[in-house]
Amino acid sequence: MSGHVYVVGLGPGDERHRTPAASDALRIARHLVGYGPYLARASVRDDQIVHASDNRQELDRARKALQLAADGEAVAVVSSGDAGVFAMAATLFEAVEQQGGTTCEITVVPGVTAMTAAAARIGAPLGHDFCAISLSDNLKPWETVLQRVRAAAEADFAMAFYNPVSKARPWQLGGVLDLLRELRAPETPVVFATAVSRPDEEIVVTTLAGAAPEMADMRTLVIVGSSATRCVPRGGEGAWVYTPRRAEAVSS
Ligand code: SAH
Repeated sequence: MSGHVYVVGLGPGDERHRTPAASDALRIARHLVGYGPYLARASVRDDQIVHASDNRQELDRARKALQLAADGEAVAVVSSGDAGVFAMAATLFEAVEQQGGTTCEITVVPGVTAMTAAAARIGAPLGHDFCAISLSDNLKPWETVLQRVRAAAEADFAMAFYNPVSKARPWQLGGVLDLLRELRAPETPVVFATAVSRPDEEIVVTTLAGAAPEMADMRTLVIVGSSATRCVPRGGEGAWVYTPRRAEAVSS
């Protein structure tokens, strides 16, 4: 009998942002596979078997899940946010492709991804066309990152940057901000949303002129507005940031 792999997005932090379908999958699974700190958020029961691994061992983790399922087990592969956004769902299908297919059932359970959680905390900065770019060059050349940021800026998308910095890559966000300063107005709103919906959450709203890489760490989602993104005053202090749903022709 073939088993079942559930690829589960836990949401950004706060359990209330975890979908009931994700919680169901975590309950049904006998094996939980994933990066250690994510599994720590999954409320594991004593009768469940945990296979925690390091952040870089994603393909091994996917193969392990497929092997367990081939033996008839119910397995949850756990990611933060949405499992389909810079996370394990694509890795799982890469492993399926490499082994030439599978007879196991696979269910990808969606989650609330960091960019929508971050956007909601500050208003609606992704209210019109936008794109999501990972700044990590672990899995793609740095040149490709810059090419995509440039193209997105020229098309006047708002942008959400995942993986803006890490200990090994402290310089990348600075490079992207420098590029954007050549292409976008200095007053363009920029949001640094760190650890959204977790106890250590911090949200900083600034402009492209004021944005500095030190404002981000690996728990930060950075949003850079389009030319239409604007701030409106909040009742108390600070501002909401939103992008209107109507756009002008892109100037060339
Ligand atoms: N699958 C995840 C993304 C994994 S990539 C998702 O859908 O959210 C890891 C990056 O996601 C981090 O470097 C950070 O940019 C972002 N991230 C994840 N959780 C976050 C949170 N709670 N607050 C802000 N950014 C977060």
